[in-house]
Amino acid sequence: MTDTAADLSTLVAAACAEIAESQNVEQLEAIRVRLLGKKGEITARLKALGSMDPETRRVAGAKINEAKEKLQTAIEERRAQLEEELLARQLASETVDVTLPGRGQRIGGLHPVTRVRRRIEQIFKSAGFQIADGPEIEDDWHNFEALNIPANHPARAMHDTFYFPDGRLLRTHTSPVQVRVMERQKPPVRVIVPGRVYRCDSDMTHTPMFHQVEGLVVDEGISFANLKAILHSFMRALFEKDVKMRLRPSYFPFTEPSAEVDISCVSCGGSGCRVCKNTGWVEVAGCGVVHPNVLRAVGIDTERYTGYAFGMGIDRLTMLRYNVNDIRMYFENDLRFLRQFA
Ligand SMILES: [Zn+2]
Repeated sequence: MTDTAADLSTLVAAACAEIAESQNVEQLEAIRVRLLGKKGEITARLKALGSMDPETRRVAGAKINEAKEKLQTAIEERRAQLEEELLARQLASETVDVTLPGRGQRIGGLHPVTRVRRRIEQIFKSAGFQIADGPEIEDDWHNFEALNIPANHPARAMHDTFYFPDGRLLRTHTSPVQVRVMERQKPPVRVIVPGRVYRCDSDMTHTPMFHQVEGLVVDEGISFANLKAILHSFMRALFEKDVKMRLRPSYFPFTEPSAEVDISCVSCGGSGCRVCKNTGWVEVAGCGVVHPNVLRAVGIDTERYTGYAFGMGIDRLTMLRYNVNDIRMYFENDLRFLRQFA
């Protein structure tokens, strides 16, 4: 009897040490099954009580039940401890720092050429112009013929045209839209035409695709003076400076007389710098009084109506407005460049 009691307390002591050293819930469960499971060591001892005489059974039974409770308590305590440790480890490894800023997304911005185009549209709208649009794939009639540039005219050579096999072409200027507008609308006409144009040309100041804005006014009593006034007002509004403007005689097949438009350099104010090649002036547009042949081509009475037209490179104006000297920067889509305008 004493032997059995000593034996039991040794078992309990060894088991308690084992329970304390268990490293995880699975190990602990294995210990529990070995001691208290259906075929466990303690369970076996309880079963053995049946063959004892009542007095021995009472004493031994109390000891075994005591041992069983002690082990159960030890196991439950260790289990709680292990679960707590597991939770602590999980929390440590899955830490969320709520003070960190959110990932967020950068807000994009309009391309600088788009910004300037919209600005141009706004300025002309406020002066009573409408915005017109036309196809980028044109036929020979609208791009050349109707604009007083017949086949074999030397001006065609200046246009470096992209042709399609069927004779159609990528428009080399926005001027064909002038023709399209006058084909469907009788004077008075007062439109600007912003859009993409294409020429086979590429260097620091030329790209194969670029943006132009065309202006056309046809009405009774329209003169060169009206043209000069509207262009000068526009330049001052666009650059937000009191820029000077001068006209130099030039030649375009679709206007007569024709002129190149210069403004005082927006970078140096006219004193001379790299942008204006030390001349104090920068060329920004071409213009003129609409050639009677152009009006006749669309059936407008040239005795009654006159008009003026002008054309400007939007990319060129954007370069001047933002002081960028390489036009290709606008089309390389380098986000470091573009984000400066956002
Ligand atoms: Zn300058």
